Amino acid sequence: MKNPLIIKHAQKLLCPTDFHGGFGQLDIIEDGAVVCRKDIIVWVGKTSDIPPDYENENCQVINASNKLVAPGFVDCHTHPIFSGTREHEFVMRCQGKSYREIAEAGGGIRYSVRMLRTASEEELLIDAIPRLNRFLSTGTTTIEAKSGYGLSIDNEIKMLRVIRKLNEIHPIDIVPTFLGAHELPDEYRDRRRDYIDLVIHEMIPMVAEEKLAVFCDVFCEDHVFTVNESEEILQAALNAGLKIKIHADQLTSSHGAAMAASLGAVSADHLDYSDSNTVEQLKQHGVIPVLLPGAVFFLGLSHYANARSMIDSQLPVAIATDFNPGSCTIQSMPLIASISCIYMHMTPTETWIASTINAAKSVCLEQKIGSLSVNKQADIIIWDIPNENFMPYSFGNTSIDNVVKNGDLLKT
Ligand SMILES: [Zn+2]
Repeated sequence: MKNPLIIKHAQKLLCPTDFHGGFGQLDIIEDGAVVCRKDIIVWVGKTSDIPPDYENENCQVINASNKLVAPGFVDCHTHPIFSGTREHEFVMRCQGKSYREIAEAGGGIRYSVRMLRTASEEELLIDAIPRLNRFLSTGTTTIEAKSGYGLSIDNEIKMLRVIRKLNEIHPIDIVPTFLGAHELPDEYRDRRRDYIDLVIHEMIPMVAEEKLAVFCDVFCEDHVFTVNESEEILQAALNAGLKIKIHADQLTSSHGAAMAASLGAVSADHLDYSDSNTVEQLKQHGVIPVLLPGAVFFLGLSHYANARSMIDSQLPVAIATDFNPGSCTIQSMPLIASISCIYMHMTPTETWIASTINAAKSVCLEQKIGSLSVNKQADIIIWDIPNENFMPYSFGNTSIDNVVKNGDLLKT
């Protein structure tokens, strides 16, 4: 039986809240306190108002004076299951080759596919654990994790089983997404229709049947899957009972995000080249834009998503790492927050909202996580920083004192 946990005297307690379905807002309680029982938050307020019955119990008390207390980050777009790393491609990029040139020469995602196919479930699991630990150590308590390096029935199922197993054995929570349409595998380069049929008629039904994923995602881009192909795949996923997401407008502007919006996508991700018409479509259909500025930064590109116009249109913008072995090795949400401020002109306050409550919405978990409020899961970060602006300002430094995950105090 877990003892109740009281965190009190927080210099600032950050409470991101949903605001009429718009961007959201950040309420701040000074000298704040949170009370948790088992894995749930049962009370939030000023330290002087803590009901006396809570403190009379046999509780664990943390004095958070001079600390900032915030909900754990929700990293709502990651690719953390892979075998082997791609630093050789990084060297090629340093020498002037583009990511696309590397991909067209058989590198990129297809390299990761070849590597993953040779790895066992056990090996993939062992490789992933330090990555999950790294997420937790930088304040992330929930991630969304995609398949997409298998690109065959057996290998996609293998990845999703590894994600399921990790969710059971590791404190971090994982939302699984099926991304069979991440790339065309080598053996289908000349038979793209056959691969799309395989995804639609065999992979999606099996993933849905075994309940291995909540979402289905597609990489919709010129050189990968067209808007029409993406639509067909996402429609099949909806018919099978999966929710949908899309990778769109990362390198060029297409109708992909707008198409996904009209189908009822929960989120549209990347959006670096989205135009005002797409922004309007997202707004009209209540789609959450998930922006991934770490990938733009890591690829040495300069065209970031227009976060300002989306926020000013009251879209509930979320930010995430896009952690993967090729186009973004960043796992730290504080670093993504810094990049969002510097290159997308978001304010520090906006980055907190975008990486907590809005990110939770983009994985349909806003009732459970993403804020410090009563009845939510006790996923809480105690920061050794003086105020909310300090987190993205202190570029590359993460000063976390303690992580509380499901009401358990984890030593970081
Ligand atoms: Zn991605």
